[in-house]
Amino acid sequence: MTTLKRVDVHVEGVVQGVGFRPFVHSLARRLGLAGRVHNDVDGVHIEVEGALAGVEEFLTALERDAPALSEIERVTVVSARPTGHNGFTIAAGLPSGPLRPLVRADGATCDDCLRELADPADRRHGYPFINCANCGPRFTIVRGVPYDRPLTTMAGFGMCQACAAEYHDPGNRRHHAQPTCCPACGPRLRLRDARGTELCGDPIAGAVTLLRAGRVVAVKGLGGFHLAVPAADERAAAALRGRKHREEQPFAVMTADLAQARRLCEIDEHAAELLTGRARPIVLLPRLPGAPVAASVAPATRSLGLMLPYTALHHLLLAELAEPMVLTGGNVSGEPIAYEDDDALTRLSGIADAFLIHDRPIHVRADDSVVRPMAGEVTVLRRARGYAPEPLAMRWPALRPVLACGAELKSTFCLAEGRRAFVSQHIGTLENHETLRSFVESIDHFCGLFGIRPEVVAHDLHPGYLSTRHAMEIHGAELLGVQHHHAHIASCLADNGDPGPVLGVALDGLGHGPDGTLWGGEFLRADLTSFERLGHLAQVPMPGGSAAVRQPWRMTAAYLGDDHPGLDVARRNPWADALRLAPGSPLTSSAARLFDAVAALLGVRDKITYAGQAVVELEQHADPAERGTYEAGITHGDLLVVEGADLVRAAAADLVAGACTRAIAGRFHNGLADAVTRACDTLRHATGLTAVALSGGMFQNALLLEATVARLRAAGFRVLKHVRVPPGDGGVSLGQAAVAAARDRA
Ligand SMILES: [Zn+2]
Ligand SMILES: [Zn+2]
Repeated sequence: MTTLKRVDVHVEGVVQGVGFRPFVHSLARRLGLAGRVHNDVDGVHIEVEGALAGVEEFLTALERDAPALSEIERVTVVSARPTGHNGFTIAAGLPSGPLRPLVRADGATCDDCLRELADPADRRHGYPFINCANCGPRFTIVRGVPYDRPLTTMAGFGMCQACAAEYHDPGNRRHHAQPTCCPACGPRLRLRDARGTELCGDPIAGAVTLLRAGRVVAVKGLGGFHLAVPAADERAAAALRGRKHREEQPFAVMTADLAQARRLCEIDEHAAELLTGRARPIVLLPRLPGAPVAASVAPATRSLGLMLPYTALHHLLLAELAEPMVLTGGNVSGEPIAYEDDDALTRLSGIADAFLIHDRPIHVRADDSVVRPMAGEVTVLRRARGYAPEPLAMRWPALRPVLACGAELKSTFCLAEGRRAFVSQHIGTLENHETLRSFVESIDHFCGLFGIRPEVVAHDLHPGYLSTRHAMEIHGAELLGVQHHHAHIASCLADNGDPGPVLGVALDGLGHGPDGTLWGGEFLRADLTSFERLGHLAQVPMPGGSAAVRQPWRMTAAYLGDDHPGLDVARRNPWADALRLAPGSPLTSSAARLFDAVAALLGVRDKITYAGQAVVELEQHADPAERGTYEAGITHGDLLVVEGADLVRAAAADLVAGACTRAIAGRFHNGLADAVTRACDTLRHATGLTAVALSGGMFQNALLLEATVARLRAAGFRVLKHVRVPPGDGGVSLGQAAVAAARDRA
């Protein structure tokens, strides 16, 4: 007689909504074992019994053969007394105990589903909402935990018999796929005109007819509404730009497949992998000369943001349209994208001519993510759909749960507990009520989803940020202010699992400095608990304060003063007015303002229409092959100071001498990279530190990042740069959380 063995197994990690229970079920059946499996708020719980050898094989295969999308973090096995019962069942989710499950990010339609979508014999042929246990909506439809259909926005769709049979069949790839549905029982697509009246006929064919006629169509996607026009249609693209009040910020383009994408951009193997991966982000890529894209789609840039279809609806739409399509956020510039039907119909009524919508509610707004291949790797520039809310593994644990409220621009927040950091999806710039509401609601939602009650609340030192004010209103938690650029460098350290100390180079826009000036070109000695300012870009006034942010030419005036031998930028603008304002204006060491000065000097951009525009356009303007450089003076007293004005003056001299502005822009990038490297070299002698962490929004600039990394490495430095979270302010919340956790451990 064989000995019966029974164990209770608890599996933690990403194990809900990824086909884990069906996998356990079929494994147990194959091994002839009895018992049951269910989701609980902690993960997956399994009771299994049978022959000793079978149970042992079960435990081995559980981790070895787990579904591709799962990530097992911990398996706990406890022996129990055998019951002698037969059969193995999947029980319904049982909520109990503390809430700590992991909800996955939304995933692009898988190959199996695409095959069915294209198969005329399949009952889901051409069905825009096809999904399975391996793909489809997750984070954006989850209202609460445990992850089971009643707590998703699919709760209102009762399964038909055929779908229910698949859902309950352990051998089916839709077994316990919570959003599963079909044309008989699932969401339905509709096409409405601008007034909300439903248009008859096939909604996709109807939408494509409108697109071909140059109309703007709002499309309800996974995490919100998009606005679409054909990418080659200049009149439609220009109309969309005008109606959105988005004067210059580039639009993203979706192509049907890689082959179509290759007609627009340079796509190497790495880029192809990013484009076709499960997260399906927008990938910023070099545009091919003569690519058939209308001028208004992405003006003043050599690159293009491309993405491939990530829902069946997008696949069907692109297949019918048979050409690339602009797919940009469904909002008026400055507002968050619309995701609720009524709100979208109201807010987008002046922009869209028609609405391609459906009746599956979106519970959580999630913008498209943006990534950029840089310096041989990829950097996430906007982390949202496809990535959030997946936790980032932390090398060191947070002993008490932390909420980090982030900064203001491109804000995110971060919840950290144990070794997991849940960085929220990109929420947007916290400057209006709608974005603030989204921020506050998302914090509550994350706390609920992941069962985290923050005991420490980290925030920026800027008292005026809405994120800081929100932190101040939270009661019953310990508050911790983290300096903006320390948070940037800590974010880079956490991103790389490095404890520091390092030389931190934080180049960004404006951050609140403890000395009351605006920082943004900083050399720090930093680890996760503390920092010391070792140096900075020389301070200059920002003539007129925030007006200088909107009008980069004012920074040119600040840098050059009366020394402007016949420069066009001085003729184009009220130069003397700026100089009069300068003495009473706030001082800054911001690297972004230095870029602004050069951008306006070269005639690239005198006034901006979106944050960071002059910096983005100066990079795009620069000749990447330029090898020339400018030299910035570096002085070293109490603090090291890099004379940014030397770079601006050298650029002005070249301009007066008739040099090509593209070459000058290239030399400026090289000059700044040289200055950073020489500054780090000086600081290495002073501190003995040999690793450099690069952070701040300026390092979204591939030209600057690549030039700086190459020079630092050549000088013998170990270089840390961002990978998983943005170098810009979207990464600040992770840095704040890392600092709070480190201080708790100290
Ligand atoms: Zn699928
Ligand atoms: Zn059905």
